[in-house]
Amino acid sequence: MERYYSYSKYLRETFGEKVFRITVDAGFTCPNRDGTKGRGGCIYCYSGSEYRPEKRALSVREQIREGMERVRRRYGAEKFLVYFQAYTNTYAPPEVLKPIYDAIREFKEVVGLIVGTRPDCVPDEVLELLNSYTSDYLVWLELGLESSHFKSLRFMNRGHGVSDFIDAVLRVRKFPKINLCAHTILGLPTEDYEDMLETADFIASLRLDGVKIHPLHVIRGTKLAEIYQEKPFKLLELEEYAKLVVDFIERLPEKTVIQRITGEAPPELLVGPSWCTQREKPKVIEAIRREFERRDTRQGAKCRFRGEVWAGK
Ligand code: SF4
Repeated sequence: MERYYSYSKYLRETFGEKVFRITVDAGFTCPNRDGTKGRGGCIYCYSGSEYRPEKRALSVREQIREGMERVRRRYGAEKFLVYFQAYTNTYAPPEVLKPIYDAIREFKEVVGLIVGTRPDCVPDEVLELLNSYTSDYLVWLELGLESSHFKSLRFMNRGHGVSDFIDAVLRVRKFPKINLCAHTILGLPTEDYEDMLETADFIASLRLDGVKIHPLHVIRGTKLAEIYQEKPFKLLELEEYAKLVVDFIERLPEKTVIQRITGEAPPELLVGPSWCTQREKPKVIEAIRREFERRDTRQGAKCRFRGEVWAGK
């Protein structure tokens, strides 16, 4: 029995078969790095969350082709979603963005478009552009919320407030076919346990379509690594994280797709926690599964916000 609404289950239900994600780096930068919103970026940012910056040397088209070939060889995949992941993927006017996103139209195997960005970087014109893909593709917009607490956003040097996130959600909801996912980080030194669960309630109250849950992990070369070195703070233990994730998911509506429940970095770049690697990922997922079983609980068991709110969703 599945205790939460996993991304793989959602994709199976949507497409009737396995669908694989190809991540691409379209060469964007970020307003929180170039001075428009801030300088230096978020304190945990390593190459805008992309660990293969060499991908930038290839065009988006080439990255899609190369990614599909790789995944096809490995898993026999037939259908793909293209994920614009690195940096801020809406940070340009629509006329610049369109030809970049349009690369997906050249591949009949591509069935969806995923765009990751900041909540203060989705003007209405960009939402209209994204909406134009919904007649042919599954479209997800991923917004970095990270936390529903301004003290944490300030600590992370996010350069936006919780209000920017709410404003973006309200405007995205004018386009019911755009699915909305929030990124969150658990284990910030600015937050206690209840603070973190409040972020789950916040997401539940907005009836977001999906959520990605990441443990805070410290990457070499980031501002966060400097802070950690100067004044070490507590990083989550694996078992502690597993409990937290189950508490978090219990508070989310049953329909919210849980797109990610852990996060990892290349071992050579990771300061800690040591379990945030690809190799340890199965252990993390297993610890979360065991915790669900031990409590005999499931997603939504403690959700306080159940009503349907959005017309058209
Ligand atoms: S918004 Fe994203 S790309 Fe920009 S600095 Fe923060 S983590 Fe990096």
